[in-house]
Amino acid sequence: MGYARITAVGLVGVMGHLVTVEAHVDRGQARVVLSGLPDAVLGQARDRVRSALVNSGFQWPDQRIAINLLPASLPKHGSSFDLAIALALLVASGQLPPPLIEGLVPVGELGLDGKIRPVRGVLPSLMAARDSPMRAAVVAPGNLREAALVSGLAVHGAVGLRELVAGLAGGAGLLAVPEPDPEIEDFTPDLADVVGQDQAKRALEIAAAGSHNLMLLGPPGVGKTMLAERLPPLLPRLDDSAAMEVTAIHSIAGRFEQRAGLVRRAPFQAPHHSASMPALIGGGSGMPRPGALSLAHRGVLFLDELPEFRRDVIDALRQPLESGEININRSAAVVRFPARVLLMLAANPCPCAAAKPNDCECTAVARGRYRSKLRGPLMDRVDLQVRLAPVGRSALFGDEPTQEDSRTVAGRVLRAREAAAARWSRAGYGRLPNSEISGARLRKDPWRLPRSVVGVADWMLDSGRLSARGYDRVIRIGWSIADLAGRERPEEGDIAEATELRLGNAV
Ligand SMILES: [Zn+2]
Repeated sequence: MGYARITAVGLVGVMGHLVTVEAHVDRGQARVVLSGLPDAVLGQARDRVRSALVNSGFQWPDQRIAINLLPASLPKHGSSFDLAIALALLVASGQLPPPLIEGLVPVGELGLDGKIRPVRGVLPSLMAARDSPMRAAVVAPGNLREAALVSGLAVHGAVGLRELVAGLAGGAGLLAVPEPDPEIEDFTPDLADVVGQDQAKRALEIAAAGSHNLMLLGPPGVGKTMLAERLPPLLPRLDDSAAMEVTAIHSIAGRFEQRAGLVRRAPFQAPHHSASMPALIGGGSGMPRPGALSLAHRGVLFLDELPEFRRDVIDALRQPLESGEININRSAAVVRFPARVLLMLAANPCPCAAAKPNDCECTAVARGRYRSKLRGPLMDRVDLQVRLAPVGRSALFGDEPTQEDSRTVAGRVLRAREAAAARWSRAGYGRLPNSEISGARLRKDPWRLPRSVVGVADWMLDSGRLSARGYDRVIRIGWSIADLAGRERPEEGDIAEATELRLGNAV
């Protein structure tokens, strides 16, 4: 007869919640009762834990066993409760002294052989444990690096249940955290590899400086993907809190990279147009996983060949792009994943994707239908548009001046971001990029720009070439251009360049 309780963590979205695992071993007919809203995978925990105990040299109590996970209302998924259940059973059956598990959070799956296996979401799980009275955590060796990112908890690894129990009792068996690899600043892939396309590169720099959404239009082979891949290295490295947030999302998706550790670089996601709704938006069966939209959080979401994406997928992107998060409705709970991305779109000018406009074989109807797909809800969110043409011979053969490298451009972007963040912070708006400052604010004093500066944009607005929203976007881009140049306020030339980039030589 015996009872034990141990603390574990359940995940809902990117949030960890403490779960109490109770085990009660009692005289009576040998059977196991699992309660507390377990899903199918958790039900299999009984079989895994039984085999793991026996194969690690422990006894499976041949008595009435009750295992309860609290709170019952919290949805629980997956196999990360195995280790907690096994330890609770060992204590309840008198095979492990209770003080040894005090303040300890176990997170791991058990193999039938008693080995402790890595699970997804260790980082967000332990972040929840850190904010509790828990003092230590134990995880699989493969999760050690990730677990060690959480400060304020002593983190141990163990190869298997046998080693873990020996280690808790004061013997050998617990593994320490390996030294992290030194962080290296990496600016690859480098902008210097891209020949020509100066206007597109300029647009990338401005997009990075103000976090402006961007659209590239051009025939295949002009380097749209090459350019897109070079946007993330231009973005500022993620600060501590952003890095933890992004790494937690990648951890839940099972994408944590042991060697890379904390994600410091702005992520890049380029889902294919045939990707499923869960792959793009998030969801799936069992424990919901973040999709490309959330994996790109605080980085770049690149949608190449935009008109090929399904309409319902595009529509599903609209709301999260507006709010910066995606809500996935489940019967048991609403799961939230962050989704604040810099959106980069690319498309061919027409369905036949001819290299030169004169070679186009599309009918007027086909071209019209294609263009109408380009004027969807996502296009409304685009700030900068660039039309790309094939690179000329002089650029290809190196007759042009040497290309600037990404390190240099990233330096300018960082200074521009700092200038904007300091300005908007002083104004009481927060440390925001220019793209997140409302048009209404920028149209009022003290930010309102004189007519002599905004003349071009005014004229475009009056003539109907710019919508009211488009006008606001031009002003925001103008501020980013001024920030890049180290100017206090946008000048006439900045607004002119912003207008040209907004209109994209008229799509
Ligand atoms: Zn065509």
